[in-house]
This record gives sequence, C-alpha cells and structure tokens, in this order.
Amino acid sequence: MSRRAQTVRFKCSHEGCEEYALYTADDRKHAARLYDTYGNGKYKCVRHAHPEEVLSADSLVKTYSMKVFKERHGMFWGVDKAGSGFVFGPGFKAYADDFPEGTEIKISAEVIIPKPNQIPNINERGRE
Ligand SMILES: [Zn+2]
Repeated sequence: MSRRAQTVRFKCSHEGCEEYALYTADDRKHAARLYDTYGNGKYKCVRHAHPEEVLSADSLVKTYSMKVFKERHGMFWGVDKAGSGFVFGPGFKAYADDFPEGTEIKISAEVIIPKPNQIPNINERGRE
C-alpha cells in the first residue's frame, strides 16, 4: 500500500455551489476514509451545511452560548453537557477550571458594513 500523501478534493453538493474542500490524505487508506465520509455528494461547504452560522448582510450578529459543567474529573464548557475544558476563538481563551459551575460564556461576532460613501473606490485603493 502506498504511503505517499495525496490531496483529495470534494465539491459541495449544493446545487450551483462552486466551493471545494481540499484534504491531504496521509496514504491511500486515509484517502479511502475521506471518500467514504465526503465522497459521492456527501460534502457540503459551511455555507450550505451550517447556513444558520454564516454571517451575512441579512444576519450581521451571531452569538453562541455555553456554560460550565462540573464533572468528576474537572470542569468543562458545553451547551447541554460537558464538552471541552478549554474554549478559544479570535481574541479570547477560557479555561472552564477558572470559573464556578453554571458560569455562562457568550461568544459574539458582529459584521459592521461601511456605509456606501465610506467604501473606498477600487481605483483609489489601487493608487495607494
Ligand atoms: Zn456550498
């Protein structure tokens, strides 16, 4: 069996979508597993797999909330049950052990679109 890494590519199965996912398979066995998971139209890009999470001009703010659950072996962030002891994203990191059980973390993202008169003209940007 070949041990050579290979790139495998899957097109989003949503009609008309041109998004592709590229994965690097360690070997042919790994590539076969990727084809089982994503091949034959099973792959969907984030826009089509989780449209409710994608920010857009019609959906400028997204908020996600988790809380701390106490388990026998430590504290964990989760939605309905214990998940990870550490959560992170752009600009923040949080260890569940640093907070009491029941603590809530709200993670928000907001897109602020400039007003039409604030959008730089492409020609102007090209001259900068
Ligand atoms: Zn798609």
